Amino acid sequence: MFSPFLEIDTDALLHNFNKVRELAPNSKVLAMVKANAYGHGSVVVAETLKDADAFGVARVDEALQLRRAGIKQPIVLMGGLFFKEDLDLVEEFDLDILVHDFFQIEMIQNRQRPYRFRVWMKINTGLNRLGFDPEHAERAYRMLNACPNVVQPMVVMSHFVAPERQDHTITQRQALTFHELTQGWDNPKSLAKSAAIIDWPDTHLDWVRPGIMLYGMSPFANKTGQDLGLEPVMTLKTLLVRVDNRHQGDNLGYGATWSCPQDMPIGVIAMGYADGYPCFLPQGAPVLVGGVQCQIIGRVCMDLMLVDLRQAPGAKAGDEVVLWGRGLPVEKVARAAQTIPYTLTTGVTSRVKRYLVKDKHTPQEYARLI
Ligand SMILES: *Cc1c(COP(=O)(O)O)cnc(C)c1O
Repeated sequence: MFSPFLEIDTDALLHNFNKVRELAPNSKVLAMVKANAYGHGSVVVAETLKDADAFGVARVDEALQLRRAGIKQPIVLMGGLFFKEDLDLVEEFDLDILVHDFFQIEMIQNRQRPYRFRVWMKINTGLNRLGFDPEHAERAYRMLNACPNVVQPMVVMSHFVAPERQDHTITQRQALTFHELTQGWDNPKSLAKSAAIIDWPDTHLDWVRPGIMLYGMSPFANKTGQDLGLEPVMTLKTLLVRVDNRHQGDNLGYGATWSCPQDMPIGVIAMGYADGYPCFLPQGAPVLVGGVQCQIIGRVCMDLMLVDLRQAPGAKAGDEVVLWGRGLPVEKVARAAQTIPYTLTTGVTSRVKRYLVKDKHTPQEYARLI
């Protein structure tokens, strides 16, 4: 059976990175590469973004993977640390740590070995997830400032709740809280993720933290990356492996959730939920077959799914299928699956092979490569 594959377009990635630079020319860029760079491959992404000032990951293992691949820029552990033993790894691999709780300050204070940690201090301004609450921020700040084991000045930051919304009330309140707390602090500051980089220049400050826009996707529900002048970095492809003419009334797939309204051509696509394609599609989902937009029908299976080929009557086994990416915005598939594009790109599973677009081959050659 043919295996689906991902094409990763590093030129598109650079284009999107330059867009960040254009939008925030006076800010340093912490490129977010957590979750394997939103499913794009964190090593390839970090190697491509030579001009990024730093990289952001969620977990220690993600940072080690980048260091072992030879990435030299600062790497910030955005999830913070939980065990004091992890400080050994931070030291060995020269990582920056986000500090969001008092137990972490204690871990750093109690460190016996002489080492100075680079710290990003996180303040909770309304997301209510990680970070020092406003009433504790001043105390945390003073403790970290006075700690001989911390490099000064540290970066102070907060994370937005909903900068992608038209209604800016929450964002305004968060930015105000942050400015009030930190106005006397002579530290580099950071607030903006993608939506705020695009929509909120006031919040760019010293460091911006783009994630989704680097990969060419839109943080806004009513726009695609293309609408924002971004280019998709990931294109998920496979092949049509079979075409049949089915009859009116024929049921298709598990659960018999779909039946043919007329005699019609039906395609079988080598892609399933075990590859990371969303299983539940209340109204089907768009897909490109040989460049023509068609509709996924019936229930997505583990390794296969079915497509209505009435729009592409000439389609035949071996035709290239695009699930999302260039030619078919992932935002549209996300909408059909009632999810957000972040979940689709991060959800592509490891059995899907990754290729750089510049190593371009025909689909049949890909099959050989796999
Ligand atoms: C993931 C993340 C970002 C990037 O968010 P996008 O919406 O993908 O741009 C920025 N900051 C923090 C702390 C994050 O965890």
